[in-house]
Amino acid sequence: RGRDAEALLEGLNPHQRAAVVHSGPPLLIIAGAGSGKTRVLTHRIAYLLATRRARPGEILAITFTNKAAAEMRERVEALVGPPARAMWVSTFHSACVRILRREHAVLGLRSSFSIYDAADSLRLMTLVCRELGLDPKRYPPKAFIHRVSDLKNELVDPDAFAAGVGGSNPYEENLAEAYRMYAQRLRQANALDFDDLIMTTVNLLQAFPAVAEHYRRRFRHVLVDEYQDTNHAQYVLVRELAGVATQAYDDGGDSDLDRGPAPVLPAELTVVGDADQSIYAFRGATIRNILEFEADYPDATTILLEQNYRSTQNILSAANAVIARNPDRKAKNLWTAAGAGPKIIGYVADSDHEEARFVAEEIDRLGDASGVRPGDVAVFYRTNAQSRALEEVLIRAGIPYKVVGGTRFYERREVKDAIAYLRAIANPDDAVNVRRILNVPKRGLGERSEAVIAAYAERERISFGAALEAAADVPGLATRALGIVTEFARLLADLRAMAAGGATPAEVLDSALDRSGYLAELRASDDPQDATRVENLAELHAVAAEFSEADPDGDLGDFLERVALVADTDQLPDDDASGGVVTLMTVHTAKGLEFPVVFVTGLEDGTFPHARSLADPAELSEERRLAYVALTRARERLYISRAAVRTAFGVPHELPASRFLDDIPDELLDWRRAESSMQQLRGSWGSGGVGSGRVRSGATGGTGPRTAPSQATGATFGSATPRADVPSLDVGDRVTHDAYGLGTVVALEGAGSSQVAKIDFGTDGVKRLLLRYSPVTKL
Ligand code: ATP
Ligand code: MG
Repeated sequence: RGRDAEALLEGLNPHQRAAVVHSGPPLLIIAGAGSGKTRVLTHRIAYLLATRRARPGEILAITFTNKAAAEMRERVEALVGPPARAMWVSTFHSACVRILRREHAVLGLRSSFSIYDAADSLRLMTLVCRELGLDPKRYPPKAFIHRVSDLKNELVDPDAFAAGVGGSNPYEENLAEAYRMYAQRLRQANALDFDDLIMTTVNLLQAFPAVAEHYRRRFRHVLVDEYQDTNHAQYVLVRELAGVATQAYDDGGDSDLDRGPAPVLPAELTVVGDADQSIYAFRGATIRNILEFEADYPDATTILLEQNYRSTQNILSAANAVIARNPDRKAKNLWTAAGAGPKIIGYVADSDHEEARFVAEEIDRLGDASGVRPGDVAVFYRTNAQSRALEEVLIRAGIPYKVVGGTRFYERREVKDAIAYLRAIANPDDAVNVRRILNVPKRGLGERSEAVIAAYAERERISFGAALEAAADVPGLATRALGIVTEFARLLADLRAMAAGGATPAEVLDSALDRSGYLAELRASDDPQDATRVENLAELHAVAAEFSEADPDGDLGDFLERVALVADTDQLPDDDASGGVVTLMTVHTAKGLEFPVVFVTGLEDGTFPHARSLADPAELSEERRLAYVALTRARERLYISRAAVRTAFGVPHELPASRFLDDIPDELLDWRRAESSMQQLRGSWGSGGVGSGRVRSGATGGTGPRTAPSQATGATFGSATPRADVPSLDVGDRVTHDAYGLGTVVALEGAGSSQVAKIDFGTDGVKRLLLRYSPVTKL
């Protein structure tokens, strides 16, 4: 045993070692990318077990993705063997589901509660807004659901929110009303949305001291990875679980604790993170959690790690140069012993397609020249939509790849429909999903009938599903509709009986698709898309079958839980013997991972950094941290590229180089191709059109300082031919754009034929448009 423990310390540097053996007060490890934070967590757990300071069941480790959880469990299992299974290693959400499934009763939830994903939540909010008679233009359900999510991440419940809303703000008042009704509907549906998982668990621990004590007695060690991305709710959750409670833990003075055994000592808390990698501010994550850890836990020990073990010096220097530009950060002194390594390769493509072609050719070339396997390569982009061009080219080049982005498959309509069936079967009260499939496939039931049933359910205070079963009592339901509803209710009842009788999720799925006529409708269609839909459903069947194989006792509820919790990174390809496949993913998904070869694509102002962030210093800082995450994933080779013209939503945009490219010192870079077809473009723009200074000169390999961009640079064009009638606009004017819809002019630059307007298109962001080429109409 002792020798085991000693062996765990070998190969760690002194700071890492100190973190692994630390005992007692809360421990904070803050350190830059690739410095071994995750490795330290894993080794610390193994060390606790090897030295018998903890039993596996006493350990709760929180990671950011299910993939990371699986990896950590694997690593610990390799170190300590099967006892590792008694540990809880999971994401925040999975841990909360686990707790809630056990403790559901005290909360008045049924253990079969559903978990709503983002699309379900939006659907429910849309229903709620419609019922409240809110104009969707002035009160967009999407905006409401975002706000509700923010509120939950701040642990603000509907009552607290309503209490804080003054009487004179109709928007906030309506939001408060919608939030209340939304929460009510969720409860009626025996469902929780994603943010509820955390907030409800916090509420549970705070309202039921006995429950909290149970978990505090159980988890003597709480360890959290990627701590910089915890939001307030998660922060409080950790505090509640670890029992390092301060004022937040208020039991009203008459709890069991007063009479019961002495309060449990706080658990040992270990958190690791990197303020420079905080990239979830939009989800309510706050680096305050890490910056003020020491203030919140006055007796905490802090350990810094400064050696990077992942990347070469060139890669690290580039990443450091980019992040150094962020204001208000603690400077770090990250170094590596790995040597300079190859230079970073830069490439300027004419178009997004040409950029993709470069990536594919380079992957091919690396395979031939350096034995790089597809599985060694990752290609990053800022937003999901950018994967399409890459996919097309990789397919044509015959390079095996996988797109990581969990939503993709599960967001497909047919997959959502099929899962809605399963959800409706597993949870009869799940109104959103029951209503989703009520007329899918088309059964000839009108909206009016649905509304009549919904009204009845409301009046009788029963769930929508229960109202379906009692359809005969629903007044105002036409005979024909009654027949349809009765048959639908019977279908669901039969499928429920089947699931209860021990059928596997795959069998229930097949039956649902078959008996509902869903599959038959797709098969009968001559739309080629429907053929793809059938394939996707076959894929879903395969997922369900695979689930049963791995977990023969798992029932429908277990399967749905798995599906609901699939995070983006869960679909990371396995490194199989054949050399694996190239991984395509957004930068957000890449957090915590590493690859020998990394392509960071789309480095344009307006793409990365995202257009939305350009006007907001705080958002720009977050984009910069995102860039830091992207660059630091690379171990040996790093490629950075951009396209001079990128097509988004069918509209080509001419975009200038990302400002992050400017920050990378020239001596680290080898520009393979810096000249783009900007020249050709320039022709059609007339003099003073495209700013040539934004393009690095490739001939010399280096560049002089970039000249200031001309007015049109970075502007977006909508059509290739100039319009004769440039609209005359003023700041504040309302306009419509053929592609972006309604917008408001926020700024004007230049005049006459080179006038550029900055227009805010709401959710589509703020665009800079060269008016002469833009389909903009003044309203
Ligand atoms: P990130 O901030 O990106 O999450 P991290 O700080 O968690 O990074 P790890 O992923 O733990 O870093 O480690 C980065 C790489 O360095 C891994 O491949 C890890 O195995 C390796 N590594 C860490 N510490 C050492 C060490 N002392 N000796 C050798 N390799 C190490
Ligand atoms: Mg890590």
